[in-house]
Amino acid sequence: MKTAVHEPDISFLSRLQLFRNVDLENPALFSLLSLCKYRSFNCGETVLSTKQKNHYLYVVIKGGLLIQLSEHDDIPMATVEPGECVGGMSVIDSGGFPLAQVSALEKTTVLAIEQDILWRMVSVSHEIARNLLYIMSERIRFSNLVVEDSLEMQHKYQQYAMTDALTGLHNRGWLDDAFDREIKRSERDQLPLSLIMLDVDNFKQYNDDYGHQAGDKVLVTVAKSIHKTLRPNDLVARYGGEEFAVLLPETPLEKARAIAERLRKHVSNANPGRLNKKQLPKITISSGITGREPGCTLDSMIAAADIAMYQAKRKGRNRVEVAPDAKPDS
Ligand code: GH3
Ligand code: MG
Ligand code: MG
Repeated sequence: MKTAVHEPDISFLSRLQLFRNVDLENPALFSLLSLCKYRSFNCGETVLSTKQKNHYLYVVIKGGLLIQLSEHDDIPMATVEPGECVGGMSVIDSGGFPLAQVSALEKTTVLAIEQDILWRMVSVSHEIARNLLYIMSERIRFSNLVVEDSLEMQHKYQQYAMTDALTGLHNRGWLDDAFDREIKRSERDQLPLSLIMLDVDNFKQYNDDYGHQAGDKVLVTVAKSIHKTLRPNDLVARYGGEEFAVLLPETPLEKARAIAERLRKHVSNANPGRLNKKQLPKITISSGITGREPGCTLDSMIAAADIAMYQAKRKGRNRVEVAPDAKPDS
């Protein structure tokens, strides 16, 4: 970094954001400007570091600066063009640590205004005070956008973490939490609740005969059938592989059986589509159902519905079975 003192070039400085509509010929301001130094930075050189307190407002004269959240962060947050400033926040904070890492994008010249001189400029000129307020409010607006963006990303990643990429249904991790909460709510409010576990029939053979891609299309077809058949407040998840779980709040066992039957028919009629110009054959599912019993848990309900589902497999597949111990009114 090189430092140099120059006679202030008023016609040039008056075009900068900070000096917009400012009378730079005012002798008090002119003498303050004469105290400011020009600094030049080589490409990549650090201008502001989050680890080092800053006492200067830097106005970019030539070149450009890059703002990054930290020195280890490769993602650029913004660039600072000639006429714009950096360092305002730490100066207002009386020499605090900069909020971001700033480096030179190319060989760059800045006007360095030391914080005491800046405050003296502010007391001499209302226009400078107003411009500084404007610059800082832009900075805050920008920071808010960054926070909003990062919250949005966080939300997106949370969604990814809870969603099965193939079918778009919720995954097992989500199920563990959401189903458990719903079971506890039903227990507390003494409401009926049913669980359906369903599994694609002879899916291994389907994969072997038509390929994994065909199998994937089948799983998407099943997910779509589930979506079309169920009500908005029913809970659905891909439990794993070709097995799906459906929790039906406020639904007694008999009604759940009718819903599972409707779903079974829907899947058996659903068209998995074409692959490599060939029509893929339809598939079937087997389902097991159980209802909420006093003191039951997610694990105990899944175990009971699984037993019923395997019974459906044993009895020939493409059918719905109710768990042996499930009470009809549960
Ligand atoms: P059953 O009727 O008794 O359920 O027999 P099945 O062949 O469906 O059951 P099995 O458990 O023997 O095979 C399940 C197959 O599901 C094996 C596995 O390769 C396949 N599978 C699991 N996940 C996926 C997936 O995401 N995509 C595809 N294409 N296949 C999957
Ligand atoms: Mg299967
Ligand atoms: Mg299975």
